[in-house]
Amino acid sequence: MHHLSLKAIANKLTKKEISAVELIQYFLDRINTHDKTLNSFVTVCEEQALQQAHAVDQLRNKKKLPYYAGIPIAQKDIFCTQGIKTSCGSKMLDNFIPPYNATVIEKFNQAGFITIGKTNMDEFAMGSSNESSFYGAVKNPWNITKVPGGSSGGSSAAIAARLAPVATGTDTGGSIRQPAALCNLTGLKPTYGRVSRYGMIAFASSLDQGGPMAKTAEDAAIMLNIMAGHDAKDSTCANNAVPDYTANLENPIKGLKIGLPKEYFSAQLDSNVAKQIEQVIQTYKNAGAEFIEISLPSSELAISAYYIIAPAEASSNLSRYDGVRYGYRCEDPKDLTDMYERSRSEGFGSEVKRRIIVGTYALSAGYYDAYYIKAQKIRRVIRDEFLTALNKVDVILSPTTPNTAFNIGEKVNVPVSMYLSDIYTIAVNLAGLPAISAPAGFINGLPLGFQLIGKHFAESTLLNAVHQYQKLTDWHTQSPEQYA
Ligand code: GLN
Repeated sequence: MHHLSLKAIANKLTKKEISAVELIQYFLDRINTHDKTLNSFVTVCEEQALQQAHAVDQLRNKKKLPYYAGIPIAQKDIFCTQGIKTSCGSKMLDNFIPPYNATVIEKFNQAGFITIGKTNMDEFAMGSSNESSFYGAVKNPWNITKVPGGSSGGSSAAIAARLAPVATGTDTGGSIRQPAALCNLTGLKPTYGRVSRYGMIAFASSLDQGGPMAKTAEDAAIMLNIMAGHDAKDSTCANNAVPDYTANLENPIKGLKIGLPKEYFSAQLDSNVAKQIEQVIQTYKNAGAEFIEISLPSSELAISAYYIIAPAEASSNLSRYDGVRYGYRCEDPKDLTDMYERSRSEGFGSEVKRRIIVGTYALSAGYYDAYYIKAQKIRRVIRDEFLTALNKVDVILSPTTPNTAFNIGEKVNVPVSMYLSDIYTIAVNLAGLPAISAPAGFINGLPLGFQLIGKHFAESTLLNAVHQYQKLTDWHTQSPEQYA
C-alpha cells in the first residue's frame, strides 16, 4: 500500500477495496511505528484525519467524489492550516494556530486530500539540513546518521520512509529539490508565481515558491494540477492558464534539447557524482535527446547574491514577530522594549538571528547600494544568462547537489559550507525558473539527484522529461530497507 502511486491508491478507494478510514489508519500506524526515530512530523493530525476519512467514506456511498478524495498528504509546517498548529519550525510560532488555510491547503482540501500531519522543517525554512528546527533534527531514512536535506526535510523523510504518499514543500533556494535529491524523491519547484503563496509563511518573498514532493514525476504532476493557478489573494501569483500537467507525460522526448552548463561540470565536480550524472545523460541520449554545451558564467555569484537578497527580505518579513499580535511572548516583560527584545531573542534560533542581522545590515543606509543593489544587479545578470541559454535548449541538466547526504552535525557550525550545498539550486530561484529534481542512482547506499531547469512556466516539459526517464530507470522505485 505505502509504495503505491496516487492513481493506484485512488483506484483502490474508488473500487472500495479499501476505505478512507483504513487507508488513513494504515499510514497513521506507520507514522507511530517509525516517526519516533525519524522526527519528520511536528504535528500528526490523527483525530481530524480520521474524522475526515470517515466523512469521505460516508459521502462516497451517496455521491461521486473528487478522484483523489481520501488520500493522505503531509503538509510542510510552513502552510497555515486552520485550527492546526503551524510552527514554521520555530519556537516563535510554537503556539500559533492559524484561523485560516493557505490557498495550497484549501486546494488540496477541495480535491479531497486529507492532511495527515504537518512536517518538520528548518526554522522559517532557513537551512539545508533540517537541523535548525526548534523541534530537532530530522533523520534521513536511508541512513539515520545523515541529514534528509532541508528545509523541507520532514516532507522528504516522511515520503522516503513511506509515512505519506506525497507531501508539499517550499523552495526559496533549493528546499524542495535538495531534500528530494538526498532522499531519492521527485521534487518540483514551480516557476515563481505559479503556485499561490497566500498563507505560506514568508521567508524571502521574491524567491519563495511552494511545490510538490513525491515518489514520481507522475504524482508530482497530479499534485501540481491541484496546486497551480491564479489567486486573487496573492498579487505575485501569475494569471497564466493552468495546463493539465499529466497530459504530456507520455510524449516521447526524441529531439529534446538538453543544455549542459560547462561551469557545473568542472573539475570540482565530485567524481562519483559525475559518474552517476553521466549515466543520466546516457539514458537521455538513448531516448533520443540531444546534448548541447551551454555557459552560465555568473552562476558562481549566485550564492553570494542570494545570501544578501534572501536575508534582506527575511529581516523585513520577520519583523512582524514582535510578541504583540501572535506567536511567542517572553515572560514578565519590564516594558515594551524589553518585550520586543526578549520575545525575539528567546523566540528565534541562531540561524534565523544570523539572517536577520545580515539582512538588516545589508539594507541599512550606507550599505544598501554596496550590497543589496549590487546583489539585485547580479540577480538580473544570472536571469539573463539563463534566458539566453534557454533560447538554445529546452532544459538544462545538472546535479541537484554537490554530494549525497552529509552527517548530522557536520555543517551546523560552518554556515558557509552549509550554504554551498545549494550551489546548483539557488540560481534557479534568483531567475524565477521552474526546476525539478529526480533520483539519479546511489553512491555508497545514499541517493543522488539530478536537476532539470526549464523555461518560465514550462513545468510540463520538466515533468514529461522526468517521467520518460523514470520509465527507463528504476531508481525512483527504491526505498530504504528498514521502511520496506
Ligand atoms: N538552504 C537555503 C537557505 O538556507 C534555501 C532554503 C530554502 O529553499 N527554503 O536559505
